Amino acid sequence: MLKPLANERLLGTSELSVGPISYGHWRLSEGNAAEAAAKTRAALDAGMTMIDTASVYGYPDFGKAEELLGDVIKADPGIRNEMVLATKAGIYPPTPYDCRPDTIVQTCEDSLRRLNTDVIDLFYIHRPDMLTPHADVAEGLMRLVEAGKVREIAVSNYTPSMFSALQSMLPRPLVANQVEFSPVRQDPVWDGTLDQCQEYSATLIAWSPLGGGALMTQDASEASQTGRIAAALDAVADRNGVDRGAAALAFTMVSHPGIVPIIGTQRVERIAEANRALEVEMSREEYYAIVTAWRGVGLP
Ligand code: NAP
Repeated sequence: MLKPLANERLLGTSELSVGPISYGHWRLSEGNAAEAAAKTRAALDAGMTMIDTASVYGYPDFGKAEELLGDVIKADPGIRNEMVLATKAGIYPPTPYDCRPDTIVQTCEDSLRRLNTDVIDLFYIHRPDMLTPHADVAEGLMRLVEAGKVREIAVSNYTPSMFSALQSMLPRPLVANQVEFSPVRQDPVWDGTLDQCQEYSATLIAWSPLGGGALMTQDASEASQTGRIAAALDAVADRNGVDRGAAALAFTMVSHPGIVPIIGTQRVERIAEANRALEVEMSREEYYAIVTAWRGVGLP
């Protein structure tokens, strides 16, 4: 039987130890400061020690999600040491992307101020900027590392060739590639992203593991790709006595033992509930049924 690993793991080749599931702050600005504190507390209590935010989260109120987390840290400074704090730079709607060194460095400094902290544990390039050469992106990242403003560096939404090109210009490892990965978005298994993470000992971090919520409201009897996937997940969920979301999270985690999904619920009670995924046992047949449902044709 396939079963998610419930233990803490190191991110890539770094010494940053994180829980098996991460908590994301993309939707955090839907709520107020007290709610932000309650959700962050619930995530840490549930062992979701990596808190994932970004400078752009909260847009059109750019920086709002970081400000809310900064308020949480200000009110309870000790909480900072309980988390691996991850944030990102490079998206500035409506431009939309800018990863020139000065921009990246300035954004990180702004993030540090908003977050009420003096170092970012994991700093990402949020999306590739076609107009900035990889050598310049590398320069910006290294300026931040050398200034002690970030501990580890990573990318998000990079294709495998973008990742290896940027890595070739860096004197230290990119410890993660954060990409969309879920039962409804299985591309990273097939496009070389997961292979490359293994080759480079980087962690694949899976955003929107519930398809951004679409999977949870999908009618499993519908004759569509998402309908087929929902039905395949429900078979696993029913047998394990969990909900479809736990089965979906388990799918991402058993795809490779190092994968860390980031959940995004804004309901406090659903945060701890996501840990039910760690109890799920899935047969190879059930796993491949979810793959086949996504493909729409059987495996040869
Ligand atoms: P998700 O966990 O796939 O989706 C969360 C959504 O699912 C919420 O709207 C939530 O609604 C809904 N949901 C959860 N359980 C449900 C249930 N039982 N029934 C109905 N709806 C349910 O993740 P996400 O929020 O899209 O993304 C997670 C994190 O990934 C973000 O916070 C961010 O940190 C990261 N991310 C990164 C990128 C990137 O480019 N790097 C892009 C997107 C996201 P409720 O709040 O009502 O529970």
